[in-house]
Amino acid sequence: MKNDWNKRTKMVHAGTRRSQYGEVSEAIFLTQGFVYDSAEQAEARFLETGPDEFIYARYGNPTVAMFEERIAALEGAEDAFATASGMAAVNGALTSLLRAGDHVVSSRALFGSCLYVLEEVLTRYGVEVTFVDGTDLAQWQAAMRPDTKAVFFETVSNPTLEVIDVKSVAALAHAVGAVVIVDNVFATPVFSRALEMGADVVVYSATKHIDGQGRCLGGVVLGTRDFIRGTLEPYMKHTGGSMSPFNAWVMLKGLETLDLRVRAQAASALKLAQSLEDHDKLARVIYPGLPGHPQNAVVVAQMEKGGTVLSIDLKGGQEAAFKFLNALEICIISNNLGDAKSIVTHPATTTHQRLPDDQKQHLGITPGLVRISVGIEDTDDLLADITGALAQI
Ligand SMILES: *Cc1c(COP(=O)(O)O)cnc(C)c1O
Repeated sequence: MKNDWNKRTKMVHAGTRRSQYGEVSEAIFLTQGFVYDSAEQAEARFLETGPDEFIYARYGNPTVAMFEERIAALEGAEDAFATASGMAAVNGALTSLLRAGDHVVSSRALFGSCLYVLEEVLTRYGVEVTFVDGTDLAQWQAAMRPDTKAVFFETVSNPTLEVIDVKSVAALAHAVGAVVIVDNVFATPVFSRALEMGADVVVYSATKHIDGQGRCLGGVVLGTRDFIRGTLEPYMKHTGGSMSPFNAWVMLKGLETLDLRVRAQAASALKLAQSLEDHDKLARVIYPGLPGHPQNAVVVAQMEKGGTVLSIDLKGGQEAAFKFLNALEICIISNNLGDAKSIVTHPATTTHQRLPDDQKQHLGITPGLVRISVGIEDTDDLLADITGALAQI
């Protein structure tokens, strides 16, 4: 692979390994183990595994390695480790690094399972976690301590789409020597420049845009070779969170079309947000790509585009939101995002149901809020579907 290839070329070709048959489409090496030519070769491989040598699929596999190499090339990371799900990636990145007595600073607006790992799992093992409002730099600054080992946040929060200033938070974290770990799902590998902005470790749920067609669970952690092979890999390979070869193959094929899909989805999301902004049934339209979004300047400087998700807040509260969801004909009611199909979610009663009411209020998860993950359907059809459903309230 040439290093000067642009992202779209890398998405199609980076990391490709061909077998002796010269296949065009990447092979699925659906094998858990590998045969050694001799006892001496087995011994040598257990002593030190070379770059194209494998022992056991929990440690590594050729199809998984293709996926890891391709996404590392896109992201501009030295190395990557593919995981069984996005949560295996988040948990692995944090747990492999931290030990009892360490302190972590995290934004409060987190994906439910991320919140569980930080609030319930890490603290059980003696890690102290301080939560802050992610867009308030003064709170980040105040929370940093000499023993702060890691900083964690979602670059764009779910479902209220607050955008965190990666560059400024990374500078505050690095001043106390903390490792910056970002969950970058909503920014996507297409638009994000998180590593360039100062993040040390980037995590994706590949279940979202990278698969992009709702088939498989997967995740990936990206960072320096030292972190990935020295800190993360030993933890992941011994605790069982590795990606399966079949899922890696699906994710590899997903990467080939990722740029085309995500750009089309983001262009539709922007058009929908602009068209709905002044709708009389809506109290709020939240989309980071709108000039009126509170962190639009950060989006322009650090993320290129506003992403593929928008949220709308219906004036009529939960009753109106439910009527709206039930009246849609193209957008389906589900809870994935980044899919080719447009998906609507009512966070207050599903993904964020278990948050206490005061937390929901604090995070802006109101009864009328609906998250729309924009798919690759025709934009005009989507707009007609949404405005038609709003008209029925
Ligand atoms: C979906 C998601 C995850 C978890 O990913 P899984 O693949 O479902 O385990 C983590 N963080 C964010 C922001 C997500 O959207």
